[in-house]
Amino acid sequence: MSDAPLDAPLRVAVTGANGRMGRAVIEAATDRDDVAVAVAVNRTETGPIGGVDVAVAERLPELLADRRPAVLVDFTGPSSALDYAESCTEADVPMVTGTTGFEADGIERLREASETVPLLKASNFARGVAALRRAVREAVAAVPGYDVELTETHHNGKRDAPSGTAKTILADIEDGRGDRTERVHGREGEAPRRNEEIGVHARRAGDITGEHEVLLAGNRETLELTHRAGDRGVFAEGALDAAVWLAGRDPGWYEFADVIDG
Ligand code: NAD
Repeated sequence: MSDAPLDAPLRVAVTGANGRMGRAVIEAATDRDDVAVAVAVNRTETGPIGGVDVAVAERLPELLADRRPAVLVDFTGPSSALDYAESCTEADVPMVTGTTGFEADGIERLREASETVPLLKASNFARGVAALRRAVREAVAAVPGYDVELTETHHNGKRDAPSGTAKTILADIEDGRGDRTERVHGREGEAPRRNEEIGVHARRAGDITGEHEVLLAGNRETLELTHRAGDRGVFAEGALDAAVWLAGRDPGWYEFADVIDG
């Protein structure tokens, strides 16, 4: 049991501190009263970010043991996120990860970590995306025979494609459609559309934070469901809400929907 006062800010560790999302998380945390950054690490040496000192990531195990943050918030890459999950299990620190691009064995390792510590993984921490997912599930069920195409657009520095959020929405669509679906990534040459296809399109341009659009069309009508993130603060806020929600929970696998549903 922590001896911190009840209204003390939740002390979080931030990995990938010098990344786009790491910076956004530190910035969002400094704007809030309910969280404080107790540990920040980055792969390479870097100066303070948002007034917070940043250590090299090799020091994470030692810093988790010494400073005992309540939750670690990770937005990095799949291999580093798995290393950090191991550090969390060793130090008994719950983990929130927004990192995307894991292979199946990476997800398996995260699930194993969740047997020791509470672990919340989300491909998207925007509340609007949670609402979009609900709307897509409902729409797909309401127009069973319609063609479905998904388009996602992100900044030119994004590494994985399609985005983790796109994959999550595709799984929602496939659940609604049953097993007669096939993802088709872009089209080229002779490529007539078949009914079971779900077209998937990934655009990369400029500094666009993140856009996801699901198009349903058939029977002389079209329906477009679109989410646009205004800036990374949207995801950072959601991840910190998730950290506050996760602290003190039992070990297990959690998702952002659990936070929204309370
Ligand atoms: P970025 O490239 O700007 O930053 C990544 C950070 O992770 C950097 O600090 C980098 O040094 C560090 N890193 C990467 N690989 C590493 C490794 N092997 N070892 C140690 N450190 C490593 O990327 P970003 O835009 O901040 O995105 C980070 C991750 O978060 C990506 O997987 C992205 O898809 C995901 N993301 C998720 C959400 C969400 O809501 N869940 C939102 C935005 C981005």
